[in-house]
This record gives sequence, C-alpha cells and structure tokens, in this order.
Amino acid sequence: MSTSPLSIDVHVAPIRPYIYPDRLAVGEEATWAPSSSTLISGPTEGILIDALLTFDNADQIAAWAKSFDKKITGVYITHGHSDHWLGLARLLGHFPEARGYAAPEVLGRAAWEAEFNKTTKYWTSRFPGELPETPVMPEVLNNDEILVDGQVVNLIHVGQGDVGGSTIFHVPSADAVVCGDVVYNNVHMMMYEADEAKREAWIASIDAVAALKPKIVVAGHKSVGAADPPDCIAASQQYLRDFTTFAKKSGTVEDLVQRMLELHGEREQLHTPWISARAEVARRA
Ligand SMILES: [Zn+2]
Repeated sequence: MSTSPLSIDVHVAPIRPYIYPDRLAVGEEATWAPSSSTLISGPTEGILIDALLTFDNADQIAAWAKSFDKKITGVYITHGHSDHWLGLARLLGHFPEARGYAAPEVLGRAAWEAEFNKTTKYWTSRFPGELPETPVMPEVLNNDEILVDGQVVNLIHVGQGDVGGSTIFHVPSADAVVCGDVVYNNVHMMMYEADEAKREAWIASIDAVAALKPKIVVAGHKSVGAADPPDCIAASQQYLRDFTTFAKKSGTVEDLVQRMLELHGEREQLHTPWISARAEVARRA
C-alpha cells in the first residue's frame, strides 16, 4: 500500500452569463457562479469530484486533469444539483476507463432533476446548445470508502447543503475535505431551496466538516484562484446566520439583499442574493 499522502488540486470554471427567464432587479445580472472540480490523486491514480455542467466545463476539466498524467479511475458527484453532474456525459467521453458515481441520495436528486428538465427544460433553456440531449447518470455508490493509489477517501453523508442529500469527501492523508455546496468560498450562497429550518440543518452539516479539522477546505463554488483555507467553514456559517437574522428584519427583497451586501459585499455572484431573497420573501406569503 502506498504511504504517500494524496494531493488535492482544484479547477474552477469562472463566473459566466446564462439565460435567466424571469425579470432581473436593477443592477442585477444573470450570471452562473464560479464552480469547482477537484482532482484527488496519488502517484499514479486520481479521482475527480464533480463534473460541472456544460460541454465546455467538461472539456476544460478534462484538459486540466490530463495535465497531471494520472489514471482517472472515477468521477464522484457531491450532490444532485445539475450544475455539478450534468457535465458527466461529456467528461466520461474524455476518460473512457472511468465511471461516474454518487451516493444513493445524490443519485435520487440527480434523477429527479433529469426528469424535471425533460418536462420544464429548466436547464436546457438556461444553457441552450451547451448540454447533452441525454444525460449520463452517475452509478450508485454503496461503499463510502474509495481507494486512490491505496489511500483512503471517505464519502460522508452530511445531508443538508444548498440542497438536501449532500455528501462531502474527506481525504485524511491530505487533511482535506471536498465539500460541494455545503461550503462556499467568496461566492454568495444559494438559498433558493433553503428555508430557515434547512439553513439550521445546513449549519450543522458545516459543523460536520469542521469536526474533521481539515487544513484544506474545497468549496463547490469559489472564486478563481482563491485558496482553500479552513476559515471558509466559519464564514459560510456566518453567512447563513446573517441571512436568517436579516430575513426576520427585512420587509422586502431589496432590503434583504441590501443588508446582506453590506456585510458580504466582497463575495462574487451578486445574482444569487437576489434569488435567495426573492425565494425567502415568497416563502413568507
Ligand atoms: Zn452548486
């Protein structure tokens, strides 16, 4: 068995425009958040965490991952949101020996999203011509221990992130956690689906990340070139707490966005607090 620790390398697809079907607020732009795919590798083998969304996302991940000259043995998906796995169809074309995998709860949500897109064109209307006609679903993973060159990577079922049924990947030999959308790094956090109770559960999921005492914390949405420090754990929790505090004080969408920007204006992806605030105000009705 190899004794060398695994390496963590992160590719980030930059923020980009997309087609948003609803009305935007003054000053709001329809952009998709910068998103990460992570290579966990040993001397000869590697696995990728998350396949992202578009053909271009997958092509860029493949070109980047191939530069490390490791045998890619699998692509593992953190959670069921399509922007983290729909790129799998294209990505596996670049790595014919690899397969896509996800925990049962992740696959459940991914399958739901694929059906939802069939009926509503939710994803294909937002990224026309950039997505596969027929998605490739990840295969269900029933074993939470993954070996990379003989070193362990542990899949942990944390539950609530920006969607329920989220998982994270702990790499003990690197003191690293690849968090998907349980942790964000310098990017506004999406609360379209997360009401106050779910935000509380989400904060508890982040506690589960903190309990691993990682030195490297890779967020599913992070700025290009940003480091992966553990302080994004506390920052993510504070963001969620601030949103809940302000949601109780703010009457309008505009007010809630304004208050969040006053405290968290350094974050990228200004479109997201608008979406989160509109959803929160709609949930009150
Ligand atoms: Zn995401």
